[in-house]
Amino acid sequence: MRALVVETPGKFSVQTVPDPTPGPGEVVVAVAAVGICGTDVHIVDGEFAPTPYPIIPGHEFTGEVVALGAGVSAVHEGDKVAVDPSLFCGACHYCAIGRGNLCENWGAIGDTVDGAMAQYVKVPAANCHRLPESVSLAQGTLVEPLSCAVHGFDKLPRHLGAHYLIYGAGTMGLMMLQLAAHAGAASVSVVDLNAGRLEVAQRLGADAVAASADAFGRPQGWEVVIDCTGVVPAIEDALTRVRRGGTFQQFGVAPSGATARISPFRVYNDEITIVGSMAVVHSFGRAVELMGKGVVDADTMITHSFGLDEFPEALRAFREGVGRKIQIRPAA
Ligand SMILES: [Zn+2]
Ligand SMILES: [Zn+2]
Repeated sequence: MRALVVETPGKFSVQTVPDPTPGPGEVVVAVAAVGICGTDVHIVDGEFAPTPYPIIPGHEFTGEVVALGAGVSAVHEGDKVAVDPSLFCGACHYCAIGRGNLCENWGAIGDTVDGAMAQYVKVPAANCHRLPESVSLAQGTLVEPLSCAVHGFDKLPRHLGAHYLIYGAGTMGLMMLQLAAHAGAASVSVVDLNAGRLEVAQRLGADAVAASADAFGRPQGWEVVIDCTGVVPAIEDALTRVRRGGTFQQFGVAPSGATARISPFRVYNDEITIVGSMAVVHSFGRAVELMGKGVVDADTMITHSFGLDEFPEALRAFREGVGRKIQIRPAA
């Protein structure tokens, strides 16, 4: 099969490699589409620590099941599926307490084993989720990032009529916006420095958008403030916008060595909750259902599609911040 192989950081090419064969409990999926996300770029650049090289990246994908390993009965050939990339060990302390995303032996398809930037990918049958009729294979690539956003909401207090403030109108910020609106927010305001992105946020239901939260005239602050940028000045600003008794969520990925200033007095005196959210756990199936219900405007979210050989162009578009979700269609 043809696959994008990252041999060492910075060195990648489309190559012919052996087709995967399914082991017990596994299936092979013919990849229809795979989204590019920041993690893929970190893998290409050698900035994602758990990556073994060489590797085929790609963890936000859909396709059709084409081969079954021994003992697989719940998944059938011809099933159109989105695949939860999580590979948790099931044996460590965190897996035992139901927090597999913190697994001591954490792995993921496309991050620590070969992924979906290829014609075929081998996956555990248990990770396959059939797509509803209403979700196309191209749209279904959004299930994985949506499942991260759903996990983020699992970690937030849920009160109807809360006011939300979101930093960053990239793919994840826009997903959090759509989920907040669906979850009964009284209002959702979005901050981004890019006017084009703010326009999209508005189209997707933001009540107010601006380059600075000062523009919203809400000195009492917001019950829920979510950072989807990972950028320290944004995070420091966001922390000052939390209403007394409110919650700040760190959803965006900051560089591992970054530090940000907080006011311990405010955390104490105003009873501010600070909560993190990392990847996917127990949220993939619900993301499939929310996609099926149309909670996310998939056609607005996916703006570019490239063939496997066009990966360098796709990567350039991603780095330049062009559009929103960029996907690769290995069969094209
Ligand atoms: Zn991703
Ligand atoms: Zn584990």
